[in-house]
Amino acid sequence: SFHQIRKNEITQRAHLGQGTRTNIYDGVLSVCGSSGNDDEAEYFCTEQNNNGREMHVVLKVLDPSHRDIALAFFESASLMSQVSHVHLAFVHGVCVRGSENIMVEEFVEHGPLDVLLRKEKGRISVGWKITVAKQLGSALSYLEDKNLVHGNVCAKNILLARKGLEDGSVPFVKLSDPGVSFTVLSREERVDRIPWIAPECIRDVGNLSTASDKWSFGTTLLEICFDADVPLKERTPSEKERFYEKRHRLPEPSCRELASLISRCLNYTPVERPSFRTVLRELTRLQPHHLVDVTSVNPDFP
Ligand code: ATP
Ligand code: MG
Repeated sequence: SFHQIRKNEITQRAHLGQGTRTNIYDGVLSVCGSSGNDDEAEYFCTEQNNNGREMHVVLKVLDPSHRDIALAFFESASLMSQVSHVHLAFVHGVCVRGSENIMVEEFVEHGPLDVLLRKEKGRISVGWKITVAKQLGSALSYLEDKNLVHGNVCAKNILLARKGLEDGSVPFVKLSDPGVSFTVLSREERVDRIPWIAPECIRDVGNLSTASDKWSFGTTLLEICFDADVPLKERTPSEKERFYEKRHRLPEPSCRELASLISRCLNYTPVERPSFRTVLRELTRLQPHHLVDVTSVNPDFP
């Protein structure tokens, strides 16, 4: 269940990157106040068309795929089309262009969080990080209430609508679509998602649940604390698998304020992870407004 977009409503521009079995392009979605004629030849967006609107979008073009993969891609678009939340990226719909399946998503101006964290390494305050954690938590709490699973929470999939790096400004993030669900991906692709993917999902993809998003949320907060330095990054796939098998703990975050919360999300027993409602309550308590000022003071400075 998602809106079908006609191929002449989209314009594909620069290539932005590759995702999981996708190529991503910058694009424009032109929605016209047409009389509903589906015929390509009759369908133009003209200036005379007062109802017409042009929107900046990303086009996620799925690689030519097996049916199962295409279905999983549609499911992801469908999930995002069912929901409406300020911290979830808006998915306009899906376009079928010949053999290509294209997800049309709102263009979020300042790109992915992992890129920003790397670029601004060491310059981002704890208050900023807690704000981002809270916004992500509110989107995930919303999904949890609806019993919907995202399944691909990571800093790469968090996009910045506002950077919030200037004085007196706050960041504003949106969680992007999960893309092709790992439940239809290869074992290698799943292992590659360690440490974001929950351990129970490596054992059996059928274990994917809202609790799995809590583990991924914990890892994402670690990523944020470490300015996008990802734990286990240099490890081989078999070392990653062994890490989960031996139930090792991921490293302690540098950010004391978030440490206890993260460690409770990164619990090997899914039912012991806190609800997003609890997560959100704790994050809100952590964030009286003065915290931003307190933590942005360099502690090494006399
Ligand atoms: P996955 O399912 O693994 O997340 P994907 O198809 O979503 O794969 P990503 O790797 O998440 O691909 O995104 C690739 C790049 O495209 C990002 O690094 C970012 O630069 C850009 N991008 C993706 N979505 C958006 C968006 N909504 N707005 C702006 N840029 C985006
Ligand atoms: Mg993505």
